[in-house]
Amino acid sequence: MQKFFTLKDLDVKGKRVLVRVDFNVPIKGGKIWDVTKLKASIPTIEYLLKNKCKLILMSHLGRPKELFAEGKTLDEVKKEFTLKPVAKELENLLGKKVFFAEDSITQDSVISHIPNEDITLLENIQFHKGETKNDETFAKKLASLAELYVNDGFGQSHREYASFCAIPKFLPSCAGLLVEKELKIMGKAMEAPERPFIGILGGAKVSDKIKVIENLLTKVDKLLLGGAMIFTFYRAQGKNIGNSKLDEAGVETAKKLLQNKKIVLPVDVVIADKFDANAESRIVSAGNIPENWLGLDIGPQTIWNFKEILKNAKTVVWNGPLGVFEFDKFANGTKEIAKYLTTLKATTIIGGGDSAAAVEKFGYADKLTHVSTGGGASLEFFEGKKLPGIEALEESYKRFM
Ligand code: AMP
Repeated sequence: MQKFFTLKDLDVKGKRVLVRVDFNVPIKGGKIWDVTKLKASIPTIEYLLKNKCKLILMSHLGRPKELFAEGKTLDEVKKEFTLKPVAKELENLLGKKVFFAEDSITQDSVISHIPNEDITLLENIQFHKGETKNDETFAKKLASLAELYVNDGFGQSHREYASFCAIPKFLPSCAGLLVEKELKIMGKAMEAPERPFIGILGGAKVSDKIKVIENLLTKVDKLLLGGAMIFTFYRAQGKNIGNSKLDEAGVETAKKLLQNKKIVLPVDVVIADKFDANAESRIVSAGNIPENWLGLDIGPQTIWNFKEILKNAKTVVWNGPLGVFEFDKFANGTKEIAKYLTTLKATTIIGGGDSAAAVEKFGYADKLTHVSTGGGASLEFFEGKKLPGIEALEESYKRFM
Protein backbone atom coordinates (compact mmCIF):
# COMPACT_ATOMS: atom_id res chain seq x y z
CA MET A 1 0.00 0.00 0.00
CA GLN A 2 1.29 3.45 -0.89
CA LYS A 3 2.16 5.69 2.01
CA PHE A 4 2.33 9.41 1.47
CA PHE A 5 0.91 12.51 3.08
CA THR A 6 -2.49 13.78 1.99
CA LEU A 7 -3.60 17.40 2.36
CA LYS A 8 -5.30 16.66 5.65
CA ASP A 9 -2.11 15.19 7.19
CA LEU A 10 -0.19 18.44 6.86
CA ASP A 11 -0.63 21.68 8.70
CA VAL A 12 -1.26 23.88 5.68
CA LYS A 13 -2.74 26.90 7.51
CA GLY A 14 -1.37 30.18 6.21
CA LYS A 15 1.47 28.50 4.32
CA ARG A 16 2.97 29.29 0.92
CA VAL A 17 2.25 26.22 -1.17
CA LEU A 18 3.62 25.10 -4.53
CA VAL A 19 0.93 23.09 -6.33
CA ARG A 20 1.74 21.00 -9.42
CA VAL A 21 -1.46 20.83 -11.45
CA ASP A 22 -2.14 19.38 -14.89
CA PHE A 23 -3.51 22.33 -16.85
CA ASN A 24 -2.39 20.88 -20.18
CA VAL A 25 -5.74 21.73 -21.79
CA PRO A 26 -6.64 21.59 -25.48
CA ILE A 27 -6.21 25.12 -26.78
CA LYS A 28 -6.30 26.76 -30.20
CA GLY A 29 -5.67 30.41 -30.99
CA GLY A 30 -5.84 31.21 -27.28
CA LYS A 31 -9.26 29.54 -26.89
CA ILE A 32 -9.59 26.65 -24.45
CA TRP A 33 -11.80 23.83 -25.77
CA ASP A 34 -12.16 21.70 -22.69
CA VAL A 35 -11.86 22.90 -19.08
CA THR A 36 -12.18 19.43 -17.46
CA LYS A 37 -8.57 19.47 -16.25
CA LEU A 38 -8.96 22.94 -14.72
CA LYS A 39 -12.14 21.92 -12.92
CA ALA A 40 -10.48 18.75 -11.63
CA SER A 41 -8.04 20.72 -9.45
CA ILE A 42 -10.52 23.25 -8.10
CA PRO A 43 -11.30 21.26 -4.91
CA THR A 44 -7.60 21.32 -3.96
CA ILE A 45 -7.27 25.02 -4.79
CA GLU A 46 -10.37 25.87 -2.77
CA TYR A 47 -9.25 23.75 0.17
CA LEU A 48 -5.94 25.63 0.30
CA LEU A 49 -7.62 29.02 -0.10
CA LYS A 50 -9.99 28.20 2.74
CA ASN A 51 -6.91 27.52 4.84
CA LYS A 52 -5.53 30.98 4.04
CA CYS A 53 -2.65 29.61 1.97
CA LYS A 54 -0.79 31.52 -0.73
CA LEU A 55 -0.86 29.28 -3.80
CA ILE A 56 1.80 29.06 -6.49
CA LEU A 57 0.44 26.90 -9.29
CA MET A 58 2.74 25.16 -11.80
CA SER A 59 1.80 23.35 -14.99
CA HIS A 60 3.06 22.73 -18.48
CA LEU A 61 1.13 23.19 -21.72
CA GLY A 62 1.90 21.39 -24.96
CA ARG A 63 5.40 20.33 -25.90
CA PRO A 64 7.71 23.36 -25.84
CA LYS A 65 10.77 21.06 -25.98
CA GLU A 66 9.92 20.06 -29.55
CA LEU A 67 9.71 23.68 -30.70
CA PHE A 68 12.99 24.58 -28.95
CA ALA A 69 14.56 21.58 -30.71
CA GLU A 70 13.40 23.05 -34.04
CA GLY A 71 15.41 26.18 -33.17
CA LYS A 72 12.43 28.38 -32.19
CA THR A 73 13.10 31.26 -29.76
CA LEU A 74 11.40 31.59 -26.36
CA ASP A 75 9.17 34.35 -27.75
CA GLU A 76 8.03 32.10 -30.59
CA VAL A 77 7.40 29.16 -28.27
CA LYS A 78 5.52 31.49 -25.89
CA LYS A 79 3.12 32.47 -28.65
CA GLU A 80 2.05 28.86 -28.94
CA PHE A 81 2.29 27.57 -25.39
CA THR A 82 1.89 30.40 -22.88
CA LEU A 83 -0.39 29.61 -19.93
CA LYS A 84 -1.81 33.14 -19.95
CA PRO A 85 -5.24 32.13 -21.34
CA VAL A 86 -5.38 29.39 -18.71
CA ALA A 87 -4.92 31.98 -15.93
CA LYS A 88 -7.92 33.92 -17.33
CA GLU A 89 -10.08 30.81 -17.57
CA LEU A 90 -9.16 29.72 -14.05
CA GLU A 91 -10.09 33.19 -12.83
CA ASN A 92 -13.55 32.73 -14.40
CA LEU A 93 -14.01 29.32 -12.84
CA LEU A 94 -12.90 30.40 -9.36
CA GLY A 95 -14.48 33.86 -9.46
CA LYS A 96 -11.22 35.09 -7.95
CA LYS A 97 -8.12 36.90 -9.20
CA VAL A 98 -5.34 34.70 -10.51
CA PHE A 99 -2.03 36.51 -10.84
CA PHE A 100 -0.17 35.31 -13.92
CA ALA A 101 3.60 35.48 -13.37
CA GLU A 102 4.41 36.16 -17.00
CA ASP A 103 8.21 36.23 -16.82
CA SER A 104 8.53 33.70 -14.03
CA ILE A 105 10.12 30.95 -16.09
CA THR A 106 12.52 31.20 -19.01
CA GLN A 107 14.77 28.58 -20.56
CA ASP A 108 17.49 29.15 -17.97
CA SER A 109 16.02 31.02 -15.03
CA VAL A 110 13.21 31.08 -12.49
CA ILE A 111 12.18 34.15 -10.54
CA SER A 112 13.32 34.04 -6.94
CA HIS A 113 10.50 36.12 -5.54
CA ILE A 114 6.74 35.74 -5.90
CA PRO A 115 4.30 38.60 -5.25
CA ASN A 116 2.13 38.20 -2.23
CA GLU A 117 -0.99 37.19 -4.17
CA ASP A 118 -3.46 34.51 -3.02
CA ILE A 119 -3.11 32.62 -6.31
CA THR A 120 -0.20 32.89 -8.70
CA LEU A 121 0.09 30.79 -11.85
CA LEU A 122 3.67 30.45 -13.10
CA GLU A 123 4.38 30.54 -16.81
CA ASN A 124 4.65 27.15 -18.59
CA ILE A 125 7.09 25.12 -16.53
CA GLN A 126 8.47 23.36 -19.58
CA PHE A 127 9.88 26.65 -20.85
CA HIS A 128 12.76 25.78 -18.52
CA LYS A 129 15.16 23.09 -19.73
CA GLY A 130 15.48 21.69 -16.22
CA GLU A 131 11.87 20.49 -15.98
CA THR A 132 11.98 17.52 -18.35
CA LYS A 133 15.57 16.76 -17.25
CA ASN A 134 14.34 16.33 -13.67
CA ASP A 135 17.01 18.83 -12.69
CA GLU A 136 17.53 19.30 -8.97
CA THR A 137 18.99 22.82 -9.16
CA PHE A 138 15.87 23.97 -10.99
CA ALA A 139 13.65 22.16 -8.48
CA LYS A 140 15.48 23.70 -5.55
CA LYS A 141 14.87 27.20 -6.92
CA LEU A 142 11.16 26.47 -7.26
CA ALA A 143 11.07 24.89 -3.80
CA SER A 144 12.58 28.06 -2.31
CA LEU A 145 9.37 29.91 -3.26
CA ALA A 146 7.25 27.89 -0.82
CA GLU A 147 6.99 25.96 2.42
CA LEU A 148 4.96 22.98 1.16
CA TYR A 149 4.46 21.08 -2.09
CA VAL A 150 1.25 19.48 -3.36
CA ASN A 151 0.99 17.12 -6.35
CA ASP A 152 -2.47 17.51 -7.85
CA GLY A 153 -1.39 16.75 -11.43
CA PHE A 154 -2.37 13.10 -11.70
CA GLY A 155 -2.35 13.18 -15.50
CA GLN A 156 1.40 13.82 -15.58
CA SER A 157 2.47 11.84 -12.52
CA HIS A 158 3.96 9.11 -14.73
CA ARG A 159 6.61 11.58 -15.90
CA GLU A 160 10.02 11.82 -14.31
CA TYR A 161 10.03 15.60 -14.31
CA ALA A 162 11.45 18.07 -11.79
CA SER A 163 8.07 19.46 -10.73
CA PHE A 164 6.98 15.93 -9.72
CA CYS A 165 10.11 14.09 -8.70
CA ALA A 166 12.72 16.61 -7.57
CA ILE A 167 10.75 19.25 -5.64
CA PRO A 168 9.51 16.72 -3.02
CA LYS A 169 13.16 16.19 -2.04
CA PHE A 170 13.25 19.73 -0.66
CA LEU A 171 9.78 20.32 0.79
CA PRO A 172 7.26 18.42 2.90
CA SER A 173 4.96 17.12 0.16
CA CYS A 174 1.54 15.63 -0.19
CA ALA A 175 -1.05 14.42 -2.67
CA GLY A 176 -3.78 16.88 -3.61
CA LEU A 177 -7.45 15.90 -3.50
CA LEU A 178 -7.51 14.90 -7.18
CA VAL A 179 -4.45 12.64 -6.93
CA GLU A 180 -5.82 11.14 -3.72
CA LYS A 181 -9.17 10.40 -5.37
CA GLU A 182 -7.66 8.92 -8.54
CA LEU A 183 -5.37 6.60 -6.56
CA LYS A 184 -8.06 5.59 -4.11
CA ILE A 185 -10.66 4.57 -6.69
CA MET A 186 -8.31 2.98 -9.20
CA GLY A 187 -6.15 1.45 -6.44
CA LYS A 188 -9.17 -0.30 -4.89
CA ALA A 189 -10.13 -1.72 -8.29
CA MET A 190 -6.65 -3.10 -8.83
CA GLU A 191 -6.01 -4.33 -5.29
CA ALA A 192 -9.33 -5.35 -3.78
CA PRO A 193 -12.09 -5.18 -6.41
CA GLU A 194 -15.63 -6.20 -5.75
CA ARG A 195 -16.39 -9.10 -8.10
CA PRO A 196 -17.26 -9.90 -10.79
CA PHE A 197 -14.52 -7.58 -12.06
CA ILE A 198 -14.65 -6.98 -15.83
CA GLY A 199 -11.97 -5.21 -17.88
CA ILE A 200 -12.69 -3.61 -21.23
CA LEU A 201 -9.82 -2.71 -23.55
CA GLY A 202 -9.92 -1.05 -26.93
CA GLY A 203 -7.76 1.34 -28.86
CA ALA A 204 -5.30 1.01 -31.66
CA LYS A 205 -2.26 -1.18 -31.07
CA VAL A 206 -1.75 -4.46 -29.20
CA SER A 207 1.94 -3.65 -28.65
CA ASP A 208 1.02 -0.45 -26.75
CA LYS A 209 -1.29 -2.35 -24.45
CA ILE A 210 0.44 -5.70 -23.89
CA LYS A 211 1.48 -4.82 -20.36
CA VAL A 212 -2.03 -3.65 -19.47
CA ILE A 213 -3.57 -6.79 -20.95
CA GLU A 214 -1.12 -8.99 -19.03
CA ASN A 215 -1.61 -7.18 -15.75
CA LEU A 216 -5.40 -6.96 -16.05
CA LEU A 217 -5.59 -10.67 -16.84
CA THR A 218 -4.15 -11.36 -13.37
CA LYS A 219 -6.91 -9.25 -11.76
CA VAL A 220 -10.15 -9.45 -13.76
CA ASP A 221 -12.70 -12.21 -14.20
CA LYS A 222 -13.20 -11.41 -17.90
CA LEU A 223 -11.40 -9.10 -20.32
CA LEU A 224 -13.52 -7.79 -23.21
CA LEU A 225 -11.58 -6.62 -26.26
CA GLY A 226 -12.61 -4.14 -28.93
CA GLY A 227 -11.05 -1.38 -31.04
CA ALA A 228 -8.45 -1.90 -33.72
CA MET A 229 -6.45 -4.34 -31.61
CA ILE A 230 -8.98 -7.15 -32.23
CA PHE A 231 -7.76 -7.57 -35.80
CA THR A 232 -4.32 -8.54 -34.56
CA PHE A 233 -6.02 -11.24 -32.46
CA TYR A 234 -8.11 -12.37 -35.46
CA ARG A 235 -4.93 -12.60 -37.53
CA ALA A 236 -3.40 -14.70 -34.75
CA GLN A 237 -6.41 -17.03 -35.14
CA GLY A 238 -5.84 -17.17 -38.91
CA LYS A 239 -9.02 -15.19 -39.70
CA ASN A 240 -9.52 -12.83 -42.67
CA ILE A 241 -9.17 -9.22 -41.62
CA GLY A 242 -9.27 -7.51 -45.04
CA ASN A 243 -7.71 -4.06 -44.80
CA SER A 244 -8.34 -3.67 -41.07
CA LYS A 245 -5.61 -2.14 -38.96
CA LEU A 246 -2.99 -4.76 -38.10
CA ASP A 247 -0.23 -4.54 -35.54
CA GLU A 248 2.11 -7.04 -37.20
CA ALA A 249 4.56 -6.96 -34.27
CA GLY A 250 1.76 -7.97 -31.90
CA VAL A 251 0.57 -11.16 -33.68
CA GLU A 252 2.82 -13.61 -31.79
CA THR A 253 1.93 -12.00 -28.46
CA ALA A 254 -1.77 -12.15 -29.36
CA LYS A 255 -1.40 -15.91 -30.00
CA LYS A 256 0.01 -16.41 -26.51
CA LEU A 257 -2.57 -14.17 -24.87
CA LEU A 258 -5.42 -16.07 -26.54
CA GLN A 259 -4.57 -19.11 -24.43
CA ASN A 260 -6.06 -17.22 -21.52
CA LYS A 261 -9.76 -18.00 -21.49
CA LYS A 262 -10.65 -14.77 -19.71
CA ILE A 263 -10.25 -12.93 -23.03
CA VAL A 264 -13.51 -12.30 -24.90
CA LEU A 265 -13.27 -11.25 -28.55
CA PRO A 266 -16.08 -9.66 -30.60
CA VAL A 267 -18.07 -12.15 -32.70
CA ASP A 268 -19.11 -9.56 -35.30
CA VAL A 269 -17.80 -6.27 -36.63
CA VAL A 270 -19.03 -3.22 -38.50
CA ILE A 271 -16.91 -2.91 -41.62
CA ALA A 272 -16.37 0.00 -44.01
CA ASP A 273 -15.22 0.30 -47.61
CA LYS A 274 -12.81 3.07 -46.60
CA PHE A 275 -11.58 4.90 -43.51
CA ASP A 276 -14.06 7.75 -43.76
CA ALA A 277 -16.92 9.19 -41.70
CA ASN A 278 -19.31 8.61 -44.63
CA ALA A 279 -17.97 5.24 -45.76
CA GLU A 280 -20.29 2.47 -46.93
CA SER A 281 -20.82 0.08 -44.01
CA ARG A 282 -21.95 -3.52 -43.33
CA ILE A 283 -22.07 -5.95 -40.45
CA VAL A 284 -20.19 -9.23 -40.82
CA SER A 285 -19.18 -12.03 -38.49
CA ALA A 286 -15.59 -12.11 -37.28
CA GLY A 287 -13.37 -13.68 -39.89
CA ASN A 288 -15.61 -12.71 -42.81
CA ILE A 289 -14.17 -9.33 -43.68
CA PRO A 290 -13.88 -9.10 -47.47
CA GLU A 291 -10.69 -7.92 -49.20
CA ASN A 292 -10.39 -4.13 -49.25
CA TRP A 293 -12.91 -3.65 -46.42
CA LEU A 294 -11.89 -2.72 -42.92
CA GLY A 295 -13.42 -3.17 -39.46
CA LEU A 296 -14.20 0.07 -37.65
CA ASP A 297 -16.55 -0.95 -34.82
CA ILE A 298 -17.86 -3.93 -32.87
CA GLY A 299 -21.14 -5.40 -34.15
CA PRO A 300 -24.62 -5.67 -32.54
CA GLN A 301 -24.25 -9.31 -31.46
CA THR A 302 -21.00 -8.40 -29.70
CA ILE A 303 -22.67 -5.46 -27.95
CA TRP A 304 -25.33 -7.87 -26.70
CA ASN A 305 -22.69 -10.40 -25.57
CA PHE A 306 -20.68 -7.73 -23.77
CA LYS A 307 -23.80 -6.45 -21.98
CA GLU A 308 -24.61 -10.00 -20.83
CA ILE A 309 -21.13 -10.32 -19.32
CA LEU A 310 -21.30 -6.86 -17.76
CA LYS A 311 -24.80 -7.38 -16.35
CA ASN A 312 -23.69 -8.59 -12.91
CA ALA A 313 -20.36 -6.80 -12.76
CA LYS A 314 -19.44 -5.05 -9.53
CA THR A 315 -16.27 -3.42 -10.87
CA VAL A 316 -15.52 -2.33 -14.45
CA VAL A 317 -12.30 -0.79 -15.73
CA TRP A 318 -12.25 0.47 -19.32
CA ASN A 319 -9.43 1.86 -21.42
CA GLY A 320 -9.59 2.56 -25.15
CA PRO A 321 -12.60 3.10 -27.44
CA LEU A 322 -14.23 0.02 -29.01
CA GLY A 323 -14.40 1.55 -32.48
CA VAL A 324 -13.66 4.74 -34.39
CA PHE A 325 -15.93 6.78 -32.08
CA GLU A 326 -14.85 10.01 -33.79
CA PHE A 327 -17.06 8.97 -36.77
CA ASP A 328 -20.78 8.80 -35.80
CA LYS A 329 -21.35 5.81 -38.03
CA PHE A 330 -18.75 3.76 -36.13
CA ALA A 331 -19.34 5.11 -32.63
CA ASN A 332 -22.20 2.77 -31.74
CA GLY A 333 -20.20 0.10 -29.86
CA THR A 334 -18.40 2.62 -27.65
CA LYS A 335 -21.61 4.59 -27.09
CA GLU A 336 -23.82 1.59 -26.28
CA ILE A 337 -21.36 0.08 -23.82
CA ALA A 338 -20.75 3.46 -22.16
CA LYS A 339 -24.51 3.95 -21.80
CA TYR A 340 -24.94 0.45 -20.39
CA LEU A 341 -22.26 1.07 -17.77
CA THR A 342 -24.29 4.02 -16.46
CA THR A 343 -27.14 1.59 -15.62
CA LEU A 344 -25.01 -0.84 -13.57
CA LYS A 345 -24.80 -1.00 -9.80
CA ALA A 346 -21.05 -1.18 -10.03
CA THR A 347 -17.89 0.84 -9.67
CA THR A 348 -17.28 2.00 -13.24
CA ILE A 349 -13.87 3.43 -14.05
CA ILE A 350 -12.78 4.97 -17.34
CA GLY A 351 -9.06 5.38 -18.02
CA GLY A 352 -8.30 8.83 -19.42
CA GLY A 353 -7.34 9.83 -22.95
CA ASP A 354 -9.60 8.75 -25.81
CA SER A 355 -11.99 6.70 -23.67
CA ALA A 356 -12.55 9.72 -21.43
CA ALA A 357 -13.06 11.90 -24.51
CA ALA A 358 -15.62 9.38 -25.78
CA VAL A 359 -17.74 9.24 -22.61
CA GLU A 360 -17.59 13.04 -22.37
CA LYS A 361 -18.71 13.34 -25.99
CA PHE A 362 -21.69 11.05 -25.43
CA GLY A 363 -22.67 12.78 -22.17
CA TYR A 364 -22.16 9.79 -19.83
CA ALA A 365 -19.10 11.00 -17.89
CA ASP A 366 -21.11 12.32 -14.92
CA LYS A 367 -23.02 9.05 -14.54
CA LEU A 368 -19.94 6.87 -14.15
CA THR A 369 -18.06 6.36 -10.89
CA HIS A 370 -14.78 7.77 -12.11
CA VAL A 371 -13.33 9.17 -15.32
CA SER A 372 -9.59 9.50 -14.89
CA THR A 373 -7.90 12.77 -15.85
CA GLY A 374 -4.79 10.85 -16.89
CA GLY A 375 -4.53 8.91 -20.16
CA GLY A 376 -0.89 7.80 -20.00
CA ALA A 377 -0.85 7.89 -16.21
CA SER A 378 -3.89 5.63 -15.78
CA LEU A 379 -2.58 3.25 -18.44
CA GLU A 380 0.68 2.89 -16.51
CA PHE A 381 -1.32 2.48 -13.31
CA PHE A 382 -3.34 -0.36 -14.89
CA GLU A 383 -0.05 -1.87 -16.07
CA GLY A 384 0.82 -2.19 -12.40
CA LYS A 385 3.69 0.30 -12.66
CA LYS A 386 4.61 2.70 -9.90
CA LEU A 387 4.16 6.29 -11.04
CA PRO A 388 7.37 8.33 -10.45
CA GLY A 389 5.39 11.32 -9.18
CA ILE A 390 3.74 9.14 -6.53
CA GLU A 391 7.00 7.42 -5.60
CA ALA A 392 8.46 10.89 -5.02
CA LEU A 393 5.63 11.60 -2.54
CA GLU A 394 6.41 8.33 -0.74
CA GLU A 395 10.09 9.25 -0.49
CA SER A 396 9.17 12.69 0.78
CA TYR A 397 6.89 11.12 3.40
CA LYS A 398 9.84 9.06 4.74
CA ARG A 399 12.05 12.15 4.76
CA PHE A 400 9.65 14.55 6.47
CA MET A 401 7.47 12.35 8.69
P1 AMP B 1 -5.63 4.33 -28.24
O1 AMP B 1 -4.98 5.69 -28.18
O2 AMP B 1 -4.67 3.21 -28.45
O3 AMP B 1 -6.60 4.11 -27.10
O4 AMP B 1 -6.47 4.35 -29.59
C1 AMP B 1 -7.58 5.17 -29.75
C2 AMP B 1 -7.90 5.30 -31.20
O5 AMP B 1 -8.20 4.03 -31.71
C3 AMP B 1 -9.11 6.16 -31.44
O6 AMP B 1 -8.74 7.33 -32.14
C4 AMP B 1 -10.03 5.28 -32.28
O7 AMP B 1 -10.62 5.96 -33.37
C5 AMP B 1 -9.08 4.24 -32.79
N1 AMP B 1 -9.77 3.00 -33.17
C6 AMP B 1 -10.66 2.29 -32.45
N2 AMP B 1 -11.13 1.25 -33.17
C7 AMP B 1 -10.53 1.31 -34.37
C8 AMP B 1 -10.61 0.51 -35.54
N3 AMP B 1 -11.40 -0.55 -35.60
N4 AMP B 1 -9.83 0.85 -36.60
C9 AMP B 1 -9.02 1.93 -36.54
N5 AMP B 1 -8.90 2.73 -35.45
C10 AMP B 1 -9.65 2.42 -34.38
